[in-house]
Amino acid sequence: MSKPRVAIFDFACCEGCQLQIVNLEEEILDLLGVVDVVEWREAMSEQSEAYDIAIIEGSITRPEDEERIKDIRSKASILIALGACASIGGVNKLKNNFDLNDVKKCVYGDAADMPHLETAMTKAVDEVVKVDFKIQGCPVEHDELTYVLRSLLIGKTPEIPDYPVCVECKAKGNICRWEYSEQCLGPITRAGCGARCPSANNRCFGCRGYVDNPNVDAAKDVFEKYGLTVEDLKSRMVLFGSKQGPTL
Ligand code: SF4
Ligand code: SF4
Ligand code: SF4
Repeated sequence: MSKPRVAIFDFACCEGCQLQIVNLEEEILDLLGVVDVVEWREAMSEQSEAYDIAIIEGSITRPEDEERIKDIRSKASILIALGACASIGGVNKLKNNFDLNDVKKCVYGDAADMPHLETAMTKAVDEVVKVDFKIQGCPVEHDELTYVLRSLLIGKTPEIPDYPVCVECKAKGNICRWEYSEQCLGPITRAGCGARCPSANNRCFGCRGYVDNPNVDAAKDVFEKYGLTVEDLKSRMVLFGSKQGPTL
């Protein structure tokens, strides 16, 4: 039986999530034994028009990106969004809160009007094409990355956590960051990182996006206890592009 062909593509991003694939080290050798990587700009020079699984890093920020992602989608049986930029727009979505001409001038100065610097409102990949699976995080977690890939390769649907970071944080016995007057976004953010930031004495910044069904009453209790509204917390989710989110 032929191995599934995998192609890895990048759009607007820092390439940190691709680096997480490289950082799989020994595990990447296991994966390479069961798939054929046919295109991966960061690691090889070959290109291919024929692939089964497309892994997409980065967000859609230019009109030509939309055409490119549609073309990739049309060739892939499975399309995976890799990381916050691809899954929820990520930090690239910050620019959507400003006038795009002002953003260009701020970044490029006098060169802002050059045609190759054309830009558009940032979109997550699923705002343009259908996404089959999202691997959340900025960057993605090694364990989750290998779990999703291995599940797909044996024909199993990966189970992505649908509960908040607080669940993992409490299980680790961390002292809540709210006790240190830090506005932690754990109650409304999707778990799967093992409460990485609170476990390192930082608040959660919401890099994994909103959990699907946050416990609204419990979240409100936490926020109100510290004199904040749910809208205050939702406004802080803007850092990684999760501005709208569920109705809390
Ligand atoms: S999600 Fe974060 S680490 Fe991954 S490409 Fe985007 S900015 Fe880089
Ligand atoms: S609010 Fe933050 S620090 Fe507190 S339990 Fe939840 S994830 Fe942990
Ligand atoms: S704790 Fe929050 S910000 Fe930190 S990795 Fe997890 S989801 Fe991202």
